[in-house]
Amino acid sequence: MKKNVLIVSIIVTCFFFLTSSAFPWGDKGHKLISKKAVLYLPSTMKSYKKWADYLEEHAPDPDIRKKDDKTEAPKHYIDIDFYKEFLSGNMIENEDSLIAEYGEKEVIKQGILPWATLQTYQNLILAFKDKDKAKALRYAADLGHYVADGHQPMHTVMNYNGQLTDQKGVHARYEIHMVDDHLAALDSSFDPQPVKLVKNPLEYIFNYISDANSVCNILMDADNFAFKQTNSRRSNAYYNLLWFRTKYITEIQFNKSAEDFAALLYTAWVKGGKPAFNKMM
Ligand SMILES: [Zn+2]
Repeated sequence: MKKNVLIVSIIVTCFFFLTSSAFPWGDKGHKLISKKAVLYLPSTMKSYKKWADYLEEHAPDPDIRKKDDKTEAPKHYIDIDFYKEFLSGNMIENEDSLIAEYGEKEVIKQGILPWATLQTYQNLILAFKDKDKAKALRYAADLGHYVADGHQPMHTVMNYNGQLTDQKGVHARYEIHMVDDHLAALDSSFDPQPVKLVKNPLEYIFNYISDANSVCNILMDADNFAFKQTNSRRSNAYYNLLWFRTKYITEIQFNKSAEDFAALLYTAWVKGGKPAFNKMM
């Protein structure tokens, strides 16, 4: 029996690491992005800077929920280049329209990150309208997570773990091992400017997802380059080269992630009637 249990847990673990949904930016990356986002809020939301600690601490929560909630995993990615409409520059952004074309099962299988982000944003507006601080904090933390996932290039592509190009494991190599080693550099790379209102949230979300998808090849090329130069995918030399070749784009994605999260948070707050933080205590 014990052996069977062990085999089952090995299979489950392998499956977990082979699906794109299994990988976040890494807990540390998510926490950094959420903490920094409050610096981008306009002066009218000054009191919300107090939310930084909570948003940082709870940034990884949606990943933790995957263990108990089977509907959670597809909310963390979209293999957007699966869709011919995306490849031809005319992505179907409306979820119902996409389901009408491909069926619900397929759409869920390819990941529902854009609409999970939108739903969380809408829930946040309602929480602000209700002046429900507990819910507002929770949805804000979730929103920060989903926005950050939408900026991780490998959460937006079919070849999410290099499995189609003989680069298996690139996902964790890039976003966990490499990012964790360079958190200090990423931390000091943020350049906060106050954000503006988002006019069309779903379009905004799809725009940053398309941007993230467009830089995937830079990461995959860097992985191949570092491997060819060092004949390794584990050595310090490999990781140094991976960072050297992707630093620029990683800093952009981290900065953009915090900025876009702040923009959606600010817009939700305005749409929710601009409740004062102190009154929500
Ligand atoms: Zn995630």
